[in-house]
Amino acid sequence: MGERSVRNAEVEGSIPFGSTFGKLVLSYQVLARKYRPEKFQDVLGQGHVTQTLLNAFERERIAHAYLFAGPRGVGKTTTARILAKALNCLTDANGNPCNECNNCQEIASSRSMDVLEIDGASNRGIDEIRNLRELVKYSPINVKFKVFIIDEVHMLTQAAFNALLKTLEEPPPHVKFIFATTEANKVLPTILSRCQRHDFHRMSLETIRAGLEAVVEAENVQMEESVYHLIGTTADGSMRDALSLADQLIAFCGHSITLEAATEMLGIIPSDLFFSITDALKVKDRSGLLDQLTEVHEKGFAQTDFINGLNRHLLNLLIATGEKGADLLDVTDDLKERYSTASSEWKARDLIRYLDHVTKMESEIKRVQQPKVFLEAMMLKLAEMDSSVEISDLLDKLSGGNPVSTSQPVKAPPPQLPPKEKPAVKDSPPPKEEPPQEEKVSEPAAEPEQKKADAVSDSGPELSLDSVRQKWEEVVGKVSENGTSIGTFLSHGEPAEVTGRRVTIGFPERYRFQLDVLKKNSRRIEMSLEKVFHKELKVDFVLQKGNESSAELSNSDHPVTQRVLELFGGEMTN
Ligand SMILES: [Zn+2]
Repeated sequence: MGERSVRNAEVEGSIPFGSTFGKLVLSYQVLARKYRPEKFQDVLGQGHVTQTLLNAFERERIAHAYLFAGPRGVGKTTTARILAKALNCLTDANGNPCNECNNCQEIASSRSMDVLEIDGASNRGIDEIRNLRELVKYSPINVKFKVFIIDEVHMLTQAAFNALLKTLEEPPPHVKFIFATTEANKVLPTILSRCQRHDFHRMSLETIRAGLEAVVEAENVQMEESVYHLIGTTADGSMRDALSLADQLIAFCGHSITLEAATEMLGIIPSDLFFSITDALKVKDRSGLLDQLTEVHEKGFAQTDFINGLNRHLLNLLIATGEKGADLLDVTDDLKERYSTASSEWKARDLIRYLDHVTKMESEIKRVQQPKVFLEAMMLKLAEMDSSVEISDLLDKLSGGNPVSTSQPVKAPPPQLPPKEKPAVKDSPPPKEEPPQEEKVSEPAAEPEQKKADAVSDSGPELSLDSVRQKWEEVVGKVSENGTSIGTFLSHGEPAEVTGRRVTIGFPERYRFQLDVLKKNSRRIEMSLEKVFHKELKVDFVLQKGNESSAELSNSDHPVTQRVLELFGGEMTN
């Protein structure tokens, strides 16, 4: 019994300490353990999970296996322990453990013979799981349910997984499993399908702040306002990390924690520095910029941390330029105000341009021999960037919200024009900044011969004539989206035949002229068909005799024909 509690303590002790302060901190009970939630209601930021579990108790519908998935340090094993207590609590408290009865206390102090915590990372082999299968056979001694909590279950070996699966397939009624994992995607689907899954969320800054505040108050520590935010952002959504950082800060600073001391200890680059950097960039103050970089260097901040921080700072500025402004930022109110003021002096497109470059720096700096020199050179380059260079490129990004060059053309290629073409250019995308690939994409339409030779691939479910007819209007609509007459032409036809992936559109004979135009634009029509039916399709056009129900208009005076003649400068030859 004593041995197991030692091992369990080790598992719990996975709280990350900064190596320098670990020894100091270990002399007292770490905050994460001291203030570990004891009831479902006390688990912060995971109400969607804990409420579901409470409801399950109320309805007496407890699953026999749970999977708790989510990032590290957000309450998965804590919730597992509460669940284990709730299952075995001697007081009937509607799902919430009393934390006072013998069972609750034994489980809380890891003394229970029937609630076993297994670390999947260090007990990942088949032997351990076989051992577990042996244990499963026996009924619990003092409690209702034997509960196996397997942390980091995705670390188990394949063989161990398979052995576990056998147990999960025929679970004895007195056994409950609670698996926790940070990587649910690595858990076998056969295991997943036998568990009730709950996804734990990364904690918001506000949640972490609330948790920290309670602890700091209980510990009688004075903490400067902005330190909460500093810890919150550093902990990146993990309450355990946040409390561990608080542990380190208390060890480092005593009971009065200032921002200055905290940034120093945590090696965090103060936001002042980033504001100074962007201020210098704005006025192309090169020496000011170099001064800031020297400070980064002299204070021993890692270059990669600097680039990450600058990236985040630029993004915050960019967000602050938006309609909802700095309110959207996950920062302290002070900083919100600062971003709000600073952003008024920036144009979004310049910030996007900086972000682009800083993101590139992020990957490049890992490969260079002299990161300090590289950083200085890149930052000076950033300061010298002419804000007009890529404006049209960025405007495209801003206006469409779409990246400029996607591999699949969003716009259809420009219509193929007969020799005497003149207008219709308005239909094609703006020519100036067109990347070369996109022009290439539109080429197939220029070579109908070659296209005919293309073999139509014939995998996937067959398309039926009916389904094409049903969605015909949608297809026509898609073709029309580009604001051309092609859609109007197409609307005079109707699907006549579908064989494999070839869709044949029939037209009354009087639309012969339109047919020629459509044939030259068949690629654009195929693209619309593909968008509607999500498969590669070829299109053909045929004239159908005896389909002249409304022949009141002759070819040459039909409005559509007139429009064609106008557009393409053609003339009727028949
Ligand atoms: Zn109890």
